Parts: sequence; C-alpha cells; structure tokens
Amino acid sequence: MTATAPAPISPTTTKRVLLAAPRGYCAGVDRAVVAVEKALETYGAPVYVRKEIVHNKHVVETLRDRGAIFVNETDEVPEGARLVFSAHGVSPAVRESAAARSLDTIDATCPLVTKVHKEAVRFAKDDYDILLIGHTGHEEVEGTAGEAPDHVQVVNSPDEVDQVQVRDPQKIVWISQTTLSVDETMETVRRLRDRFPELQDPPSDDICYATQNRQVAVKKLAPECDVVIVVGSANSSNSVRLVEVALQAGARTSYRVDRAAEIDPSWLDGATTVGVTSGASVPEILVQDVIDYLDGRGFADVQEVRTATEDLMFSLPRELARGLKAAGHEEKRPRRGARTALPVEPA
Ligand code: SF4
Repeated sequence: MTATAPAPISPTTTKRVLLAAPRGYCAGVDRAVVAVEKALETYGAPVYVRKEIVHNKHVVETLRDRGAIFVNETDEVPEGARLVFSAHGVSPAVRESAAARSLDTIDATCPLVTKVHKEAVRFAKDDYDILLIGHTGHEEVEGTAGEAPDHVQVVNSPDEVDQVQVRDPQKIVWISQTTLSVDETMETVRRLRDRFPELQDPPSDDICYATQNRQVAVKKLAPECDVVIVVGSANSSNSVRLVEVALQAGARTSYRVDRAAEIDPSWLDGATTVGVTSGASVPEILVQDVIDYLDGRGFADVQEVRTATEDLMFSLPRELARGLKAAGHEEKRPRRGARTALPVEPA
C-alpha cells in the first residue's frame, strides 16, 4: 500500500462531491465476509457467527438471508455446529467455551487484531501493566483485554488518564484498539506519558492501516466541505471516528448514515461541496447509492480525493482453507481486486 500525494482541490461555485479514497472495505473485513460466504457455500446453511461478523447492518442482513445465524454467545450454538468468530476477535475464554461445546470454529479475527492480542499476551507474560486505549464494551476491546485480564486496564479517552492506577510506573505499556481516532489516541498517550514518563510504546502501530488511511483522506477533503456524509453503521467504531475527524478537520457539518435513504435533504440546503466517505466495513454499493442520491439533487460532479492506494489482502482462515481444499473448492477472492495475498501468522 502506498501513500499518494493528492492533487490540490480547486475551489468551486458549482455543486460537487469530493469522494474520499481510500474508503470502504479493508482487508480484514473482506476476509471475514468472504469467510462466511465460503463457509455457507462449502458446508451449507446454517453457519453460526458469533456477534456481527463486521459492524455493518447491510452486510449482516445479506449474510443472514443466505443462511448465517448470528448469536451473541457460544452457548446459543448447538453442540458440534460450525461457528465463525468475527473480525473483531475473541478472548481465550470464548475459545474455551466453544471447544467445550465441540464447536467447529472458523476464526475470522482480523490478523491486525490478532497482532494486538499477541502484544497483550507478551507484555502480560513480562508482568507489565497494560493500558489498553479503546472503548469499553467494544467487542475488540473485550477480546484483547480477555487475553490478560489481570494486567489490562482500559483507558477510554484522554479524560480518563487521571484515574489510571499502576503497580510500577517503570513497567507500563500502552496498546490500543485498531479503529480509534489517531489524534485522540495520541492525546491520550501524551497525557499518560505526562503522568508516567517511562510509559512504553507498542512495538508497532495498533491503529490499523485502514483506519489511518480513511482518516487521512477525510482530513484532506473536509476543509472544503459544507457537509461530509460518512456511510457506516452506528456500532462501527471507525465510521463514527470518521465523522469526528471530518468535523475536527473543518467540515461545516458531518453525518453518519447506514444508507442513502437516511440522508435528510435539509442537510444539503445551501451546500456546494459534499464530502463522501465510508467506514472499513461498508460495501461500495452503499456509497454508490449515496452518490446516486446526490446526483439526483444536482451534485453531479464527483471528484475523487485519493491520499493512498491499498492493495493488501489476507489469506482466508486456515481451517476454512483446509475445508475448501477438502471439498475441492478453490480459494477464489474476486471481491476487491487486491493484488497481494499475505499469509497470516500463526495465532
Ligand atoms: S479496520 Fe483494520 S483491524 Fe479492523 S478489520 Fe479492518 S484492517 Fe482489520
């Protein structure tokens, strides 16, 4: 994936759309959705999925129509049935509970989430206090914290830094949820470091490439926009962050919608430039619907504002790949035209 020097945005007096790129599906979401699709094709319905496979209503509804059954916990799945873990990851306790029910699991945890799990395990083994910057209650945070519950405390925002208590200020490290605002996270880290100068950084960025790229793109176009429309579901952390980033970067207003039908026409009153982007779990068809909606209201000029090019693709979960091979099915990945299939490290 490469950063691209974006072309300057020229001022305008005619109605136009600035369309952020990159936007929409990331490699982890693509892999998770394809995993459920392939499981349905290969094994037939039903395939159980713990939690929403990715945080997007449209994706979940589409898979449900095809035979996926979404559950909150493993005890809702019949013994011995097939269960997919979502892209957000699960704690060891969930894996144990699935094993106790003899569930045939397919782990669609995004490899970039797995990387953060491994950091938590490693630092807990070395007896660090781990400050996990993230949102309490988010599935990813539950999964990561569950790797080392005795060592992890969650820090939700910069304002919570004053309440953090550690055993040894010389032995603490921060890690984070993958889908946060980069700027707010750095502010939390700055305040933590003011209190704990010996705070260690994680070995590499935990906020993933897709989250960062989508925020950079929206920051580029937001100052030109009267309105920025973010396509994404309310429980999609990175989509919600895009609204915040757009406002902080200078958009006059910004709204999140699941689909074009949720746009209130009054948002466009007096607007000349409308920015459009989408969260990492959003299929392009939903963005296209928004573009068509705007076209119907005179915003026919669509200019792409690209700040990076992405070509990352993860190989399918290995247990599924084995199943596909045994069934004589190919591991075809038609969805996104990505060029590079990266092997996934052993969890
Ligand atoms: S947003 Fe990032 S961490 Fe989450 S699934 Fe996509 S690539 Fe993985």
